[in-house]
Amino acid sequence: MMRYHQRMRIRYTQAKSILTPQTRGFLTAGERPYTHSLSWAAGCGYGKLYCGAFCYAQMLPNWHFARRRDEGWGEALIIKENAPELLQAQLARARNRRDMRIFMSPVTDPYQPIERKLRLTRRCLEVFARYDDLDLLLIQTRGSAMLDDLDLIARIPYAWLGMTIETDRHDLPYGPSQPNVERRLAAVRQAARRGVRTQIAVSPCLPYSPGFAERLLATGAQRIVIDTFAVGDGSRGKRTGNSPFAALADYDWRDDRIALRLYQQLGARHNAVAWSGPGFAGILGR
Ligand code: SF4
Repeated sequence: MMRYHQRMRIRYTQAKSILTPQTRGFLTAGERPYTHSLSWAAGCGYGKLYCGAFCYAQMLPNWHFARRRDEGWGEALIIKENAPELLQAQLARARNRRDMRIFMSPVTDPYQPIERKLRLTRRCLEVFARYDDLDLLLIQTRGSAMLDDLDLIARIPYAWLGMTIETDRHDLPYGPSQPNVERRLAAVRQAARRGVRTQIAVSPCLPYSPGFAERLLATGAQRIVIDTFAVGDGSRGKRTGNSPFAALADYDWRDDRIALRLYQQLGARHNAVAWSGPGFAGILGR
């Protein structure tokens, strides 16, 4: 059945499984690897924003097998509408819940624009809130709509909120970014004040203004991870070179020095600043 949300083409499917075991790749690149990922959609409603130009998810098999030939990145969302029920079933029968470290979501954003209508992420969080014995749940988003679920996230003892903030500049010539940076910084501040453990992902690090480090520190985030195109795209820059971003970029995106500068500035003032894959897969669990 086809349904539409704004200009996105929305398709609903019944999935067989919702927790995907992780055995290699970015999410396992650190001392504390993720054991599973959770993505209730293929595609992304933010795919036409500037992050969609360099987003690696559009190059992964998950998207290519799910999309139809006339569905471009940012034009379609294929939704596993039974995600909460599957999650409940998988957690209930898991024998190793204490070891489970879940990244939500590596191939889409769990706070899609349509989440306010569907509440699939909220219903998954309600499932997690029934279990207090997992090791880690990282909810990685760029959507300030996660504020709707802050009380729920705060009740999950192993949950972390990850907010992507690649830059604080509004004048970059790559197209629109929503939600805007101010709202994302404010969302992290609010989450940290509420007692939710928060991590900012400057991923990938784009050119930023001189006060960026200060603005990140002022949020109260407990961890900050810096990543770059060359180190973090999983192919030493090849994926980024093949992405629409390579044609848009007005600077040398292969040069890691701007990211390293930020890493050093932050590292001098904050005791939990981490780098790329080992940083993402380095969060201490409960
Ligand atoms: S929000 Fe994340 S998944 Fe969606 S297009 Fe941007 S980078 Fe990709």
